[in-house]
Amino acid sequence: MSDYMDKLISSDLGKISPSRDSVLNDLQIVRAQLSDFLAEARQNQAILERHQILDLQLIGAHSFRELIRHIFVSMAEICELDQVTLCLLNHRNQLQEMLTDLKIDPIEFPFLMFVNDETELQQHGKPLKQAVVGAYEVQHHQKLFAPCFDAPQSVALIPLIRQSKLLGCLNLGSKEADRFTEDMGTVFIERLGSIIAICLENVINAERLTQIGLTDALTNVSNRRYVEQRMLEEIGRARRQHYSIACMYLDIDHFKKINDQHGHQGGDEVLKEVAKRIKAELRLSDTIGRFGGEEFVVLLVNTNRRDAKFVAERIRKSIANKGFLLSMTGACEVTISIGIAPLSDGHNAGEIEAAAKALLLRADRALYEAKEQGRNRVNESLED
Ligand code: GH3
Ligand code: MG
Ligand code: MG
Repeated sequence: MSDYMDKLISSDLGKISPSRDSVLNDLQIVRAQLSDFLAEARQNQAILERHQILDLQLIGAHSFRELIRHIFVSMAEICELDQVTLCLLNHRNQLQEMLTDLKIDPIEFPFLMFVNDETELQQHGKPLKQAVVGAYEVQHHQKLFAPCFDAPQSVALIPLIRQSKLLGCLNLGSKEADRFTEDMGTVFIERLGSIIAICLENVINAERLTQIGLTDALTNVSNRRYVEQRMLEEIGRARRQHYSIACMYLDIDHFKKINDQHGHQGGDEVLKEVAKRIKAELRLSDTIGRFGGEEFVVLLVNTNRRDAKFVAERIRKSIANKGFLLSMTGACEVTISIGIAPLSDGHNAGEIEAAAKALLLRADRALYEAKEQGRNRVNESLED
């Protein structure tokens, strides 16, 4: 356009009248240029609209799982990226513990990585404070793209910062060498980084709050409210997918005596250690909760009567066969009694709430029998 204007101006200044043909020719050029501009503007508009959709998806994510999915699926697709990884700072293993609580298996997100320290995210020995863009360099970027099948040709590493705190690093890769170049503007990707950092902080805080409301403060396992809620969900799913589940009621034997001999603090230590040992015998998909006092309930999904007995026996032994060492009073022997109530895959009758109540009651009765039979034993309900 400016060429044409220059020409017009100079021809005007020189008082030379352009021929009709040359004016027409110039007009054609202008028209073609305008059409190019329009096409570009339309393309930019389309990109902008796609990014607005992405922004809304990221901001609207209600959970950690949903946000991470949007990053790896929607963002990768909308931004036409070949590789996307996310490295999150995992101070004192807090994030990984949160994933365990949320029952998120690490294989669900293979491109999500954790680092324990900010120094692991340094680039060229300097803290990551601004986006880094340019060619992929093995020695600097290999670790960040380790889970990807192919190494990218060019990369953008975007620090995720909230209130001057580094939360992690979003790593974008392209197989096109000219997609991310050192001389490109980084305003756009830094804006994306800011949005993701805010969303990440929000979902992590929200997950923590929910978790606090559903966690037993002493033992750190779920509380009764959570287990009861979960039980309804699990019975519903077991009915739909036709598998069996089992409920266990566990109660520490003669806990009053433990309190008497080792004090309340000693008793609390026993409770914590018992919860830890039970948890260690369970799968990620199982649920353990403290139901009150020295009682725990465990829900085993996709588990039949025989396997439930096997797990219960393993839990009983893990507590009885290894003494407890208490900080103030030293060694302490602890045993536990367990009642099991299986719910077979054919059991489909009645309201879910009533089924959950009945299941718990059967487990409690089986526990009572175990106590009657002399404690430190597993007893199963014969109904199903
Ligand atoms: P059994 O073998 O029949 O189960 O006997 P038990 O002594 O374990 O059962 P009982 O229900 O008589 O006593 C439970 C005790 O657990 C009584 C209560 O003071 C104690 N307790 C409840 N909650 C806590 C707690 O949070 N910390 C501690 N240290 N003790 C608790
Ligand atoms: Mg009890
Ligand atoms: Mg007891």
